[in-house]
Amino acid sequence: MILFYDTNLARVFPVKINGYLWKVIVCMKRFYKTEAEFEDFYLKLKLTMCPHCNVRGCLILHGYLYGYCENDMSIIKRGHRIYCSNRNRKNGCGRTFSVLAAVFIKNFMITANTLWCFLEKISEERTLVSALRESGSCIGQSSIYRIFRRFSDHQVRIRSYLSRIKDPPGLKHITSAVVQTILHLKSVFNKSCCPVAQFQHYFQASFL
Ligand SMILES: [Zn+2]
Repeated sequence: MILFYDTNLARVFPVKINGYLWKVIVCMKRFYKTEAEFEDFYLKLKLTMCPHCNVRGCLILHGYLYGYCENDMSIIKRGHRIYCSNRNRKNGCGRTFSVLAAVFIKNFMITANTLWCFLEKISEERTLVSALRESGSCIGQSSIYRIFRRFSDHQVRIRSYLSRIKDPPGLKHITSAVVQTILHLKSVFNKSCCPVAQFQHYFQASFL
């Protein structure tokens, strides 16, 4: 059974709903792991539907997406921008969207790897500040409170994604919902060195 389908850039993953196995196909790529993977996305760009106006044939590359490096103020490339062209009689909407490397977190300087190290320390009952410092990040304390609050707010969505492929591990003795979510993430992507980046790449959805 198929829930969603788009012929271009589709990515299939199994989902179990009411005991039946469904195939869910993600229509639009939002995260990539390697430049080779992005190149494959780029080659199919003209066949791809714009996520804003659903028009095909108008998407073009619109440069790189830059951002600040996590531990200093240097500028690094974080992904690519795509433009839905309305120039030269094209029927596009003129809006842009980004396709991000999965190792970065959208709208945050912290990388997926540092965020995972931080969350892992939280699951080991460290305080927020010590978990942050042990993760090797130099970002400010106020930022980590903001990131942690954002993670707490997004737990339901994250667990909803994770439950599509695996039930949470038996954690009755753990009362903290945050720790349960972290361990659920770890159990789903237990073969990955960075479950946060793997989450983004697998579901093509932002972690935060
Ligand atoms: Zn458009």
